[in-house]
This record gives sequence, structure tokens and C-alpha cells, in this order.
Amino acid sequence: MCYVANGVDDKDVRMDAHTTLGEPRLLISHEALRHNAGVLRAAVGDSVRICAVLKADAYGHGAAAVAKTLARGRLADALAVATLDEAAALPEVGLPVIVFRPVENVYVGRQRSQLEEAIERGWTLTLCSAAAVGDVARLAQARDKRASVQVKIDTGMSRSGVDDCDAHGVIEGVLRQPALRLGGLYTHFACADDEDDVATGEQFRRFCEVTDGYVEANRSGRRPIRHAANTAASLLHPHMHMDMVRTGLGMYGIDPMGPATGRTLKPVMKWVAPLLMVRTVRKGTSVGYGLTWTAPRDTRLGLVPVGYADGYLRSFSNRAKVIINGVAANVVGRVSMDLITVELGSVPSAQPGDEVTLLEDEAASPASVYALAELGGTIPYEIFCRIGARVHRVAVDEVAAEVEERAAG
Ligand SMILES: *Cc1c(COP(=O)(O)O)cnc(C)c1O
Repeated sequence: MCYVANGVDDKDVRMDAHTTLGEPRLLISHEALRHNAGVLRAAVGDSVRICAVLKADAYGHGAAAVAKTLARGRLADALAVATLDEAAALPEVGLPVIVFRPVENVYVGRQRSQLEEAIERGWTLTLCSAAAVGDVARLAQARDKRASVQVKIDTGMSRSGVDDCDAHGVIEGVLRQPALRLGGLYTHFACADDEDDVATGEQFRRFCEVTDGYVEANRSGRRPIRHAANTAASLLHPHMHMDMVRTGLGMYGIDPMGPATGRTLKPVMKWVAPLLMVRTVRKGTSVGYGLTWTAPRDTRLGLVPVGYADGYLRSFSNRAKVIINGVAANVVGRVSMDLITVELGSVPSAQPGDEVTLLEDEAASPASVYALAELGGTIPYEIFCRIGARVHRVAVDEVAAEVEERAAG
């Protein structure tokens, strides 16, 4: 075999060993998910609703499976997504669905038919302009429906939402429309993960100032709920929980304030891949595009079938560590589109088929999402969102059953 001639170790190949079963996988622990939902529930108490944020395919974890687990255990009171497409992709689990992206330009492209579906299916739409209020009311009226809407108010982040000084006009507009039901009022914090930042308190003050009146005035009937807190504010600012919190990152077991806070969140995701091949190269051999790494001595190298197309960032080249048999190994050479090369000097026992952990589900690991985010000059959110569709999402419980089955027969 030409591989052997090129220096690949002629050892037994155990490609079906371990949980990778020969392919890169995202192992999703639904037990960890349930645990985190419990931690968040304990933080907010029983009287505050929890909206689980499932946008971007549940931060890369697989929205359908996450939605089912949360609904089955009654671990969330609502689900939120960013777009109408994401709402349509969710399984029907009997929880209210909130769409964060503000409705605008209703008559452009697919928007109208998508909004009609949203109204039919009772998803809650986000409005932040008088134009959108009128447009959604017209669509709902034409279908003899009442659309559920929430008004998003910008209290200082200067991103989406109606300006706090113009909020009354939009809210009054909603209340005047019989085809609209005002389900809630909300805002979003710019700096909630910085405990000392005064901006969060100022945003909260402004939000209360604008919305207090609506809560009072509608006390007799169905008053709109108010919500502002993301995961960070849910954990740091109990007085900002209001009627509901919107938790994304915390559900997935990651602390927005970093790994060292001592909270008991458990990372839900572990990213593994098989060691595809192992070869020994001579001292002085260079590796990968641009030949950016050169072996300082005769070295065993392992090939792992993931690359930047899968969301393993090119900026990890020559910097990141993977875990093999419990030991850290360096990524050497450039990360390419579909492959990386790791140096096996620290793991002489490594063989083809061994499981390589690219992203560890332990906060303290050198391959934790915190560590990878640091290396990539980004945040855990982005590391999660970039993990590509080629990587199969699998519930770990299912994998365990699958491995057992193979072992048995
Ligand atoms: C993404 C998002 C959240 C969730 O934020 P986390 O920091 O992941 O908890 C909450 N609210 C809005 C409006 C969002 O877009």
C-alpha cells in the first residue's frame, strides 16, 4: 500500500471504535441540557417564565432535539428563534414561539407568505415600527386572525427596537388594532455580562420608565409581559428578571462571564472525530498549506477529518489543542478546509480510529469552547454557530446505545 511506503504506521485500523463510529460528530448531552435548565430555574425562581433561545439551530446544538427535550421536561415556558424560517423548522412541541427579528418590508420577497404562516400558526412576532404594526394588522385581518405581537424597545444598545422616546406611538398603535394582541414588551442589554457596567442599570431604568404604564393600565385584562434579561442578566441581576428571561448560552452550559465563576453549568456539546490515519515523518519535514510547521525531530502525526468548512477555525492553525486518550495534542500546520494534522508526540499510544476531541465538554479543558474562543479571538457563541452542517448532531444517549449494539453483534 502506498500509504505504508509514505510512512503510515501499518497497524490494525479500528475505525468503528468509540463514539465517533468513523465520522466527526457533535455529541449533545440532553442530560446536561436538563441540568442547565434546572440551574437557570433555580436562579430565576418559579414565578419567572423561561424562554429558551434556540436561534441559529440552538447555537449549533440542533434546535429540533433541544426543543423536544425542553418541552418534554417542561423546562422552558417559551422558545425563541431569530427568523421565520427557524420558527418553521422547529417541531411542534406545544410551547409558544417568539421570533426576534423585527418585522419590516412586509411586501418584499417571501416575507408576506412567511408572515401569513406565522399568523396562522400563532408565532409571536416582533414589531418596532408603526409601518410594521399596520402591515401585520392588515395581514391578520385579511385572514380573520389575531396576530400575537411583542414590541421591542431600544433602551441604549442602538441596534434593533423602536427608540424609547417613540415607543408609546408604536405600543398605542398595537393596542388600537383589534387584529393584534400585545403579548409583551421587551428590550435587550448591551453589556449584561459585565457586572460593573452601569449601562445595564440605565437600560433597565429606561425600559421601566417607558413600560410601567402599560402594565398598570392593563391590569384588569391581559397585561403584556415584560422581559429584558439574557443569560448574563438572569445570573447577575435578579431584579431585572421581570416576567420572563431569555436564556441561550446558559442553556448550553456556557457561562457568559467565563469559566471561572464557580457556577455549575455543564457544557452540552462535545465535538469528536476519528483519527483517520497516523504516519511518522522525518525531522525537517514540513506540514500543510504554506508548510508553516516543520518537525523538529522524527514525529508521529495524526490526520483528523475536520477543517474550517466544519467551523474549526483557520486561526487555530499551529495553536489549538485536541484531546486524544485524555491527553492534549497540538494542531500543527494550517487548518485546511476538510482536514487538520495533529502531533502525536504526547500520545504515543494513539492509533487510527481513536477518538479525537476537538471541543471538550469541560470548562477547564485546553479544548473547551472558552479556550477555542480565546484562540480564535472570538466568543463561545461564534465558535458554536460556526460548526457546520457536515458534522452530525447526535444525542449521546443514542450513541451509547449504538456502540453497545455494535459490541453485542
Ligand atoms: C440571542 C438573544 C438572547 C440570548 O442571549 P444569551 O446571552 O445567549 O442568553 C436573548 N435575547 C435576545 C433578543 C437575543 O437575540
